[in-house]
Amino acid sequence: MSSGLVPSLKQSCGSAGKSAINDLAIFGGTPAFPQPLHVGRPNIGNRAELARRIEDILDSAWLTNNGPYVQEFERRICELTGVAHCVCVCNGTVGLELAIRALGLKGEVIVPSFTFVATPHALQWQQIQPVFCDVDPITHTIDPDCVEKLITPCTTGIVGVHLWGRAAAPDRLADIAKRHGLKLLFDAAHAFACTYRGTGIGNFGDAEVFSFHATKFVNCFEGGAIVTNNAELAQRLRTMRNFGFVGYDRVDYIGTNGKMPEVSAAMGLTSLDSLDDFVAHNQRNHDAYARHLDKLPGFQMYAFPEGDKFNLQYVIVEIDPAAALTRDEVLELLHAENVLARRYFYPGCHRMEPYRSLYPSASQFLPHTEALSQRVLSLPTGTAVSEEDIRRIAGLIRLAWSEPELVRTRLASRKKA
Ligand SMILES: *Cc1c(COP(=O)(O)O)cnc(C)c1O
Repeated sequence: MSSGLVPSLKQSCGSAGKSAINDLAIFGGTPAFPQPLHVGRPNIGNRAELARRIEDILDSAWLTNNGPYVQEFERRICELTGVAHCVCVCNGTVGLELAIRALGLKGEVIVPSFTFVATPHALQWQQIQPVFCDVDPITHTIDPDCVEKLITPCTTGIVGVHLWGRAAAPDRLADIAKRHGLKLLFDAAHAFACTYRGTGIGNFGDAEVFSFHATKFVNCFEGGAIVTNNAELAQRLRTMRNFGFVGYDRVDYIGTNGKMPEVSAAMGLTSLDSLDDFVAHNQRNHDAYARHLDKLPGFQMYAFPEGDKFNLQYVIVEIDPAAALTRDEVLELLHAENVLARRYFYPGCHRMEPYRSLYPSASQFLPHTEALSQRVLSLPTGTAVSEEDIRRIAGLIRLAWSEPELVRTRLASRKKA
């Protein structure tokens, strides 16, 4: 390493309490954070408001079955996204399963492998074959050119994923779906309150599904919502969510229990009240990471396009495999410091069961997915993480970058021990 750089790198992390390589936890130093720092520590809004809503729910004794809080939450989601219909559900995965069934998908459905495993599971769970598609190396979302090549006479639909909150080429996918007579669904689990060319996410394809899991940006403890501008589809989803009931004693088709309880809607509404604060906090955190890690050789922040709204619930960096340290080395180093960064979405769904056994040669056709799953690291953010925490995290990374060979040797000997 060129000499001039090292002292300045070291100085920059002096106030992190670690100025020498031996201070790193992997060398036996005290972890930089006494408590673990998580990627998805829940954003908790105004507790008093939540408590007030819960008291009200208990007073009314209307705990579930499309109660007033669920209805209010659905209205607020429609207002915020500009979508005509919202059907809240118990979680995002059940939302995907319901949307897939209500749209009549069967046979083969094209889906990215670079996503959370719930996306293909929601298909496979219903004996529909997920056909894994590669992603664009810049946007990380499904590559429409690859989609077109994977269409067969058995294909009935496409499920795009708005990874990290970025719209998955909705115009191009809509065009492909139209030309081939396919249904188009979006897994919008990451993209609540985001926009694409000024239009709210939720308005694209036949339907879109949000997740309000505790680790997501807006949370309901557990929860999700299906949104659509198709009134008939929304009605079918409402019925399916409630066992297929259309009256007290009448069931018209197969359904399940996908209902959102009132207490979840109360949490969701409380989250919505603080939405702007959550976004502002995420923006400050995102900028802090960019400021402190910018220009670190081999490190690159995932870039969001100008002009649209993003919730910035994920801070994504890409680490060049030829950089001073690899992604996995950085991960191990950070975990030792109680910084629980995550390898989203390693190793890719096609390398997880049952898909690995069903499609043993899938990786050959997914070069960008394979490369990204080796490069991408998701860093802690959200309201539980401060700019000061980020300055310290970046300080640790920069310190390790100053003596990569030493760090690498140390990590290798830890593995042997
Ligand atoms: C979180 C997530 C889901 C699943 O949502 P749950 O509400 O946890 O069931 C689906 N897809 C993606 C991309 C997710 O990140």
